[in-house]
Amino acid sequence: MDWPELVRAAASCQACGLCAGRKHSTLFAPQTTETEVSTRQADWFILGDPPNAEEDRLGQPFVAEDGRLLDNMLKAVGVSRHGSDAQGAYLSNIVKCRPPHGRAPQASELSQCTVYLQREMDLLRPKVILVTGRRAAQTLLGASSAQAALPLDKQRGTIHRYKDTPMVITYPLQTLLRTSALKAGAWADICLAADVIAGKTP
Ligand code: SF4
Repeated sequence: MDWPELVRAAASCQACGLCAGRKHSTLFAPQTTETEVSTRQADWFILGDPPNAEEDRLGQPFVAEDGRLLDNMLKAVGVSRHGSDAQGAYLSNIVKCRPPHGRAPQASELSQCTVYLQREMDLLRPKVILVTGRRAAQTLLGASSAQAALPLDKQRGTIHRYKDTPMVITYPLQTLLRTSALKAGAWADICLAADVIAGKTP
């Protein structure tokens, strides 16, 4: 599947029960043109939790206060969700449809939706993956791996790998909004990811 085919497939997907309650899948906003979809290039792949109500309504990830915080942190390292290549961040959710009442996605739902996540990564070929939160981290680390069992603070500060792509784990944006003392740690994580892009890490 190319980008437009992937977007169309997610918009009409019925592979798991989460399709029943969605307004939109979050794989590209509905108003995005096919040309914009087809030409998307970004070195940063930022992965977050399942869509919340606002993300479901608008059909794109990180659109509320958490998104504004993310945009500001990215801007500080010269990166934007609208940028390209080293200055560009592609944003994604671990599942593309909102679980009812904001519940956690079930293992079977995560597993079904991994097809989309994997294809996003294959098409984008990012230079770094920034994972926001333990649930998203577990999805990429593999639920049964030793690293996935560690608390988030032990997963941070190091460069993991998802297949061949370097991966940095940080706090969920919603947690940063509630606990501003953690923002310094999140900033260090973003700087670590920026170092990966700049080739400053081993
Ligand atoms: S969550 Fe993913 S697998 Fe489930 S219906 Fe939506 S797009 Fe399909």
